[in-house]
Amino acid sequence: MEHVATISGEPVAAPGYFAVINPATGEDAGKAPNLGAAELDKAVAAAGRAFETWSQKSDAELQAACAAVTKKIEEHSEELAKLITLEQGKPLNGLGSRWEMGGAVAWAGYTTSLSLPVKVLQDNEQGRVELHRKPVGVVGSITPWNFPVMIAIWHIMPALRTGNTVVIKPSPYTPLSTLRLVEIMNEVLPAGVVNVVTGDDRAFNLGAAMSAHAGIRKIVFTGSCATGQKIMQSAAATMKRLTLEMGGNDAGIVLPDADPQAIAEGLFWGAFINNGQTCAAMKRLYVHDSIHDAVCEALVAYARNIPVGNGLDEASILGPIQNRMQFDKVARLVADGARRGKVLLGGAPGEGLFFPPTIISGLTNGDALVDEEQFGPALPVIRYSDVNEAIAMANASDNGLGGSVWSSDIAAAKAVASRMQCGSVWINKHGAIQPNAPFGGVKLSGLGVEFADEGLEQYTDIQVVFA
Ligand code: NAD
Repeated sequence: MEHVATISGEPVAAPGYFAVINPATGEDAGKAPNLGAAELDKAVAAAGRAFETWSQKSDAELQAACAAVTKKIEEHSEELAKLITLEQGKPLNGLGSRWEMGGAVAWAGYTTSLSLPVKVLQDNEQGRVELHRKPVGVVGSITPWNFPVMIAIWHIMPALRTGNTVVIKPSPYTPLSTLRLVEIMNEVLPAGVVNVVTGDDRAFNLGAAMSAHAGIRKIVFTGSCATGQKIMQSAAATMKRLTLEMGGNDAGIVLPDADPQAIAEGLFWGAFINNGQTCAAMKRLYVHDSIHDAVCEALVAYARNIPVGNGLDEASILGPIQNRMQFDKVARLVADGARRGKVLLGGAPGEGLFFPPTIISGLTNGDALVDEEQFGPALPVIRYSDVNEAIAMANASDNGLGGSVWSSDIAAAKAVASRMQCGSVWINKHGAIQPNAPFGGVKLSGLGVEFADEGLEQYTDIQVVFA
């Protein structure tokens, strides 16, 4: 089935299409338009025209429009969840596509409720000084393949709420749910407010062209560090505003007083949510010597019972890895880890793109499975004896997205947490996010934050009025 891209409220004629693969079966999930420079220009021009009126809307009008968009998305949740599963592979159930759609609706609703009122900085006989937040213009959104709809919502909704218009470009691996999402949004939005372009990144790289496009005033990007760095370079010429959410290599530290049975489930989902294909999944676990074996045992016992299968099967709780490139990377890093450590669970690739949850102990910093962002269903467990050493190993990374500390003593855990170099830190959980808490990374994990007022502000420029 050929899916359509919406530009200026209309389906756009595509010069060609590319196949999207269902990772559970290797079959075609559908075809997406393979668009190029001409269609990108058209989308940016449409967003530019729409900006003239959209940016003039009152705060109440923008809020009402965003509420209407949220309602539409909610009505189409199940349809979008099935499309996500078909192209992304994650199951409908568990922390899969229905959960992703629940998050998308919650974020859309919460973002709608936010506002950035005028701030009075001074009001006295010397005069009145006001800080106004102005929309930046056309926002280019570039998204990855792990949470195609939720991340699209994280980019689009704050842009709309603050009076900007959008051109979104999803990953070539998962474009179908975004094409449909934008079609649905256009049922309640004026033409050109949200436009979508898709391409296979082969003959023409749409994301690179967006980063350099003079008609785009801001790029919001979620994806790999390498791509984020390229975007930053090419955005310099037009001084685009940037929000960059990039990769992580999150560490968890288990203190000696943690209860292995009590934390096993949290540890598992912290690491294996979406098969580990989650920016803020736990990718390395440091466990104190005194409870190392008990934690490994409890974790393996929990992980052993997780059903892995085709995501469209209601019984599946984990699905396949999303694409071949990612699968090969995980297989390579796990094979290396297996040679150097002890495989406690999994370790060998399954059929097609299926890879079982894998836990390997006996590794340490310097091993590839520990040092590289493997972005898959594999967790290296590292034994430590001194908490200072664990913190130093956790911080010995160019990334700094999230981190966690596991302990029965919250004060002790918070003291360790405060020494971790990362944008979010969790106690006895890993990866929790919510729309009223800013989310972003330090070091190479990103620039700026998303969510909450702080995230919303990044879709605005400041204008100070001296009266
Ligand atoms: P990727 O960087 O390969 O691709 C992301 C997007 O960028 C895609 O839409 C792609 O087409 C586009 N792109 C490719 N080349 C480009 C260029 N030169 N200029 C502009 N855009 C370009 O990332 P991916 O493999 O799709 O996603 C996995 C990565 O995303 C992981 O590193 C993961 O940690 C990260 N991620 C981060 C977060 C976060 O919030 N920090 C969330 C999800 C994923």
